[in-house]
Amino acid sequence: MSDYHHGLRPESRIVHPPVEEVAGSRPLGVPLHQGHVFAFPDSEALADAFTGPDGAFHYLRFGNPTVRSLERAVADLEGGSGALAAASGMGAITTVLRALLRSGDHVIAQRSLYGGTFATFADLAARWGVDVSHVSGDDPEEVRAALRPTTRLLYLETVSNPTARVPELPALIGAAREAGVLSVVDNTFTPLLHRPIEHGADIVIHSATKYLGGHSDVMAGLAVFADAELHHRVWHHAVEQGATLDPFAAWLTLRGMQTLGLRIRRHNESALDLAGRLAAHPAIAAVHHPGLPGHPDHERARRLLPDGQGGVFAVDLAGGREAARTFVGAVRLASLAPSLGGVHTLVLHPASTSHRQLSDDELTAAGIGPGTVRIAVGIEHPEDIWADLEQALAGL
Ligand code: PLP
Repeated sequence: MSDYHHGLRPESRIVHPPVEEVAGSRPLGVPLHQGHVFAFPDSEALADAFTGPDGAFHYLRFGNPTVRSLERAVADLEGGSGALAAASGMGAITTVLRALLRSGDHVIAQRSLYGGTFATFADLAARWGVDVSHVSGDDPEEVRAALRPTTRLLYLETVSNPTARVPELPALIGAAREAGVLSVVDNTFTPLLHRPIEHGADIVIHSATKYLGGHSDVMAGLAVFADAELHHRVWHHAVEQGATLDPFAAWLTLRGMQTLGLRIRRHNESALDLAGRLAAHPAIAAVHHPGLPGHPDHERARRLLPDGQGGVFAVDLAGGREAARTFVGAVRLASLAPSLGGVHTLVLHPASTSHRQLSDDELTAAGIGPGTVRIAVGIEHPEDIWADLEQALAGL
């Protein structure tokens, strides 16, 4: 990448991912290399290719030109030294955790994690003896108090799901760093809006299935590393684990990412606008959007996410569980579906779907009520989304 390219803003750089020349000219779209195996002139050259994530391409599980373009583009987006792509966000998460943890290790993790990540920690505890302490994410003293000689990782998310709580990331990461503990931050909800490596994080995770891909047509995950040595260490495990990203999925993700800047701006603006209007609607008891003054993390969100707080927020319907279930069935432009970050507006009733395995007490601790609905705002015209939400609320 040239100095000129480095001087551009991330949302401009992402429109120009690294592409090799082909016979004297440079394709603007990243070419799709679907082949899984590459031939070599001699065994020495092939042997060299096995050594690390930057080696010559030889076998897809170890690397592929299209997948590497995606890895470089996301590493650049996050300001990391390198990245590895996986078949899903969970593929990236489990690869990182299995590479860095062993029996007897201790992890400090935010309490309100994505369900799949929470379940993975529970599994690691039950079957591998990896002990996990959960913290709220509000206070670095909680992290200091939880530290043990065996603590290896601090695991955080930039914005929690579905009530959009924003942890005190830089201070938490700082507390881990003082103790020599690595920090992993899942930045799925806030690409371009937050760059955890600039705040001291060692690894950034993306479910690229969401905003990076952005069109509800691809599943992919990435782990970005601040440090090249850590990248190499985890890459060796990634090759063994085999949760490799398919080149076509990498190609679709790269294509989607070129419009990331435009989409994120639209998601941010529409979500904040709709949250404000919903707060004034009589069928709504509460709105959980960190851009609104009443949200418990409003001040922190203004500080840590000054360019926008993302496209996902939650509302509590005054009519409780029945009203919430009726509402998610009554939307017409929006769809009832379990994802986020794409061009389409989606709604979800967490208590009966994504968070159904939580007890009532756990739901309350996560800030989820029986009438809570998550809204992942798409890029449709905000007036059309509002008209749809309003007609669905009118039927309650
Ligand atoms: N991290 C977060 C914050 C998520 O919301 C999700 C999925 O919803 C994941 C990770 C897992 O990603 P994937 O579904 O691509 O495996």
